[in-house]
Amino acid sequence: MLNYRKDLNEMPSYDGVERDYRIKVNANESTLSLPPLVEERVLNRLANISFNRYPNEEYDLLVEQIAKNFSVSKSQILLGGGSSEIIEKVFHAFGGNGRKIIYPQPSFSMYKIYARAAEAQAFPFDLDEKFDLDVDSYIKKIREVNADLAVICNPNNPTGNALTVAQIEEIVKNVDCALLLDEAYVEFYGHSAFSLVKKYPNLIVARTFSKAYGMAAARVGYMIAQEDVTRMINKTFMPYHMNTLSLAAADIVYQMRDEFVPRIQMTVAERQRIFEQLKNLRELEVFPSQTNFILIRYEKAAQLQEYLDNINIGVRYFSAGAPSLKNCLRISMGTRIENDEVLSVIKNFVQGK
Ligand SMILES: *Cc1c(COP(=O)(O)O)cnc(C)c1O
Repeated sequence: MLNYRKDLNEMPSYDGVERDYRIKVNANESTLSLPPLVEERVLNRLANISFNRYPNEEYDLLVEQIAKNFSVSKSQILLGGGSSEIIEKVFHAFGGNGRKIIYPQPSFSMYKIYARAAEAQAFPFDLDEKFDLDVDSYIKKIREVNADLAVICNPNNPTGNALTVAQIEEIVKNVDCALLLDEAYVEFYGHSAFSLVKKYPNLIVARTFSKAYGMAAARVGYMIAQEDVTRMINKTFMPYHMNTLSLAAADIVYQMRDEFVPRIQMTVAERQRIFEQLKNLRELEVFPSQTNFILIRYEKAAQLQEYLDNINIGVRYFSAGAPSLKNCLRISMGTRIENDEVLSVIKNFVQGK
């Protein structure tokens, strides 16, 4: 008999179902791969990699670029295998037996899993019926439970709404514990709170190349915090945890990040267009979004998801473990053509045509 550690049995799995849909709008990925010009330069760069060497130089190059862009020192940046690895390590650094991690709910489903993996006690904090986070109650709760780590996802996945930078500052300045700010979708919102890092030693900001920069395949993310914080979090990483292929690709993408501005703008415009169209459908409720996806609530969400699945369109349906997301579907933005098709299928379905 294989003697696994006990807590592994109770460990939940990430509940996303992955498949190669014809129209894949279930995982908030960028619907387009890299812009051709960027792709060409990435491939050239990859052709010149020293495969025999550990990834020191490429790690440094990317850190240097990011630090320069945010006007912080290099020692304030850490890279991770997606922001997933950053989040996992931050949970690890502040977690442990008997320690407390608080995060909003509904939010990114992985927070619960990372809290479990870090053997910490998890405190999900309920968003209100409009999925807004009540800042004062959150502060109160963080203090009340005496949390070691509090999390904010801004804008929030899967609900799409966002706090203002002032609201985030209100939270960070009124709590003693570490505050992890997950900004996976911030490029579609436009208001990052990273500059608060200078002022607040308890703030950690996590960002990713996976969403706005269409690099989900490469698994690259980063965090910004004060130097003392990054020095401690860095202890939780294995040496050479980033691979040179991903680092080199991300380095080019970051150099050429202006090339992504038009497509980010297009995604935002599409989000607004689709939001307005969905709002016209009385049969469903649509939530305003600052991201690259839209959340809807519809009585027959399960049937609609199944119908879409059958015609090879993937959207995200929330079922088990998320009672407040009952009958909700999350749809990420595709190209205009893809969005029109998804929209017309939804429209016909809900109007019984
Ligand atoms: C997608 C996502 C991430 C992590 O993505 P990576 O690919 O690991 O960078 C983190 N947080 C939220 C809220 C996300 O939606």
